[in-house]
Amino acid sequence: MSRPVAVWWVKRDARLADNACLAEADRLGMDVLPLFCFEPSLLTADDTSDMHAHAQWQAVTGLRAALRKLNADIVIAHGEVVDKLAKLHTRVPFTHLFSHEEVGNDITYRRDRAVAEWCRERGVEYREFPQSSVKRGGVNRDRLQRWWQDRIAGVPPLPVPSVRQSDELRRLAGATAFPKLPAFAPCRQWQPVSEADAHATLADFLTRRGRWYRGGISSPNTAFTAGSRLSVHLAWGTITARHVWHAVARRIADLDPNDPHSQRWRLSLEAFVSRLHWRDHFTQRLESEPELEFRSVHPCYRDVPYENDERLHAAWREGRTGYPLVDAVMRCLAATGFVNFRMRAMAVSFACHVLHLDWRLIHPHLARVFRDYDPGIHLNQLQMQAGVVGWNAIRVYNPAKQLADWDSGCRFVKRWVPELKPQPAERIVSGDDLPGYPPPVVPFAERAKRMTDVLYAIRKSAAAKTATAAVYLKHGSRKKEQTVRPKRAKKPAPPPTPSLFDGWDTDGGAG
Ligand SMILES: Cc1cc2nc3c(=O)[nH]c(=O)nc-3n(C[C@H](O)[C@H](O)[C@H](O)COP(=O)(O)OP(=O)(O)OC[C@H]3O[C@@H](n4cnc5c(N)ncnc54)[C@H](O)[C@@H]3O)c2cc1C
Repeated sequence: MSRPVAVWWVKRDARLADNACLAEADRLGMDVLPLFCFEPSLLTADDTSDMHAHAQWQAVTGLRAALRKLNADIVIAHGEVVDKLAKLHTRVPFTHLFSHEEVGNDITYRRDRAVAEWCRERGVEYREFPQSSVKRGGVNRDRLQRWWQDRIAGVPPLPVPSVRQSDELRRLAGATAFPKLPAFAPCRQWQPVSEADAHATLADFLTRRGRWYRGGISSPNTAFTAGSRLSVHLAWGTITARHVWHAVARRIADLDPNDPHSQRWRLSLEAFVSRLHWRDHFTQRLESEPELEFRSVHPCYRDVPYENDERLHAAWREGRTGYPLVDAVMRCLAATGFVNFRMRAMAVSFACHVLHLDWRLIHPHLARVFRDYDPGIHLNQLQMQAGVVGWNAIRVYNPAKQLADWDSGCRFVKRWVPELKPQPAERIVSGDDLPGYPPPVVPFAERAKRMTDVLYAIRKSAAAKTATAAVYLKHGSRKKEQTVRPKRAKKPAPPPTPSLFDGWDTDGGAG
């Protein structure tokens, strides 16, 4: 007699390890049929790009190969999920649908509700499993640390379970193929995304590159190798934060006290772990208040008078602002899908504080050029760097200072703004006129002052002061959430040791 079938709806979780959907099907002794849909509504969303479709295609290609080694396969579909589920249900009367919880944008939020509704109507049991410490709905943030303990630190990652699949299901799945989308054309400069790549990247970080993390992640010349580079994998779910956390904890426990590098390793890995906490901290905000996609977390900053000049917006997007480091960052992002945190923060700060562009206006482009686009982190970081959160310091990154501090030799700038190659680095850093390169589109100091005056005036208003306490209570971080506070390094780290990411490093992308 054939076994009951559970469909595992693959979303941002194309992995076999630490997979609660597969583990549950195994526990129940069910056949499992993985299903992945390329959804037109998502592919055409303004915060989606070819980089994202390509990442998912790669991740699912890797998953299919891994499943085939287990004598199983995945159904690949092109269409809206509810339609595809309905069609599949006529062929395979599955009784259960499993997926992992996703904290996405408004489109995925509404789609998830539609899927739940379809399951209710059809009598299919739909179960969603968490894959982070983020709790569904509005929450009391005082408990955040406990959930981290309950779901991440206190529970080991799930091993790869048995995957049962009948010959009939395997044949059905094996007959499905990827739609022919131009987005799947390979681009050498995009970081590979698959479960195997995720584990290789983690191992490489923990054995070689991680030593340079602390002090190495601020400069765009070192962050491409000193950073973990796990963001694409965490964002697309080819590895879980729990998997990473436990691997790091083991590595810290195994540090040899006689090794002169142990202390550096420890500080680096502890600083890294605090970033994993931040990830869930920000994602929880979007989960608790999905409207944050469209409005600032603080009610008094929802009508900041931005100019939204399309000419300046285009100059920023295309890396033609006349500010060398801003232009290099925007061009590097468009080509590789990656820059480090500090450069992302500077790009947003410059757009909002100096070009006077609304964070909601710049959001779709930035999302499209981040290979690791993760709405929970992204939307909240945008608001934070735009200074509209209400309690964080209003921080204006001066691109000239950032250049002097983090790329004084102009290696990064010259790589991405080749018209500056003939210029001596000192001249670029000094801010002199640069032949063959446009002058600044707007003056930095005067424009930054105008915007910060607006933001400080809001902050000082009685209405804002009253609202801040309530918003902070709902969304602010608690001291104990941040187990380790990273300290600012005095000097940039030396170049990292050779690793998986050789050829990716100082050029800010594939060499
Ligand atoms: C405006 C802006 C938008 C951003 N958008 C995204 C995004 O869409 N997706 C994304 O993954 N990261 C985003 N970040 C956070 C950060 O820049 C990247 O996670 C980091 O640069 C990725 O490199 P890494 O994996 O080597 O990071 P590591 O420094 O090695 O950090 C490890 C992991 O921790 C998480 N993390 C790191 N920094 C932060 C942070 N400040 N806040 C929350 N989580 C963090 C990420 O999952 C990251 O992979 C954004 C930052 C800014 C300023």
